[in-house]
Amino acid sequence: MKKSVFDPFLPVALVKGWSDLGLWKCHQCGQCSAVCPSQQHGGIHAREIIERALLGAINVEDEGIIWLCMMCQSCTERCQLDVNPSFVITMVRNLASERGNIPQQYVDEAKLFMKTALSFPKTGLTKKMRSEMKLDDFDIDQGALTEISFIVNKTRLGRLEL
Ligand code: SF4
Ligand code: SF4
Repeated sequence: MKKSVFDPFLPVALVKGWSDLGLWKCHQCGQCSAVCPSQQHGGIHAREIIERALLGAINVEDEGIIWLCMMCQSCTERCQLDVNPSFVITMVRNLASERGNIPQQYVDEAKLFMKTALSFPKTGLTKKMRSEMKLDDFDIDQGALTEISFIVNKTRLGRLEL
């Protein structure tokens, strides 16, 4: 298990406002990790995250492994006890984000999304690919930008200092 700083408030923070994360039902069978594509390439272990969350053994201020989850939901689908590891990882990420632990590529992506309503840059290459797929070129949608601005202001994303 990765060595990390003990954070006695992590379980409290996780459970606060979320009455049924199901952490306590986990019997550490490891089936979630077995189906995890990230784990298969040396990334995150869902079972270990649940264990560490329960123990408060995640230092959200500098934990990097949580950002290796692809949010594919395979772990949650596999868990027969409805523990929902991917949701737990999301909650840990939210805490990490609020404490400034966000990989730069996610910051860049969020800024781009807020500015353009796109999560990837519109480049010559993307134009060429759209053309090859016979898709029309497009301009930044002002309606989408207005909607995104509303969502950003209503969610945690709007409270982050990016
Ligand atoms: S989260 Fe579910 S699948 Fe994963 S170790 Fe715990 S009980 Fe098993
Ligand atoms: S949601 Fe994340 S932790 Fe769960 S299986 Fe997918 S990559 Fe692994």
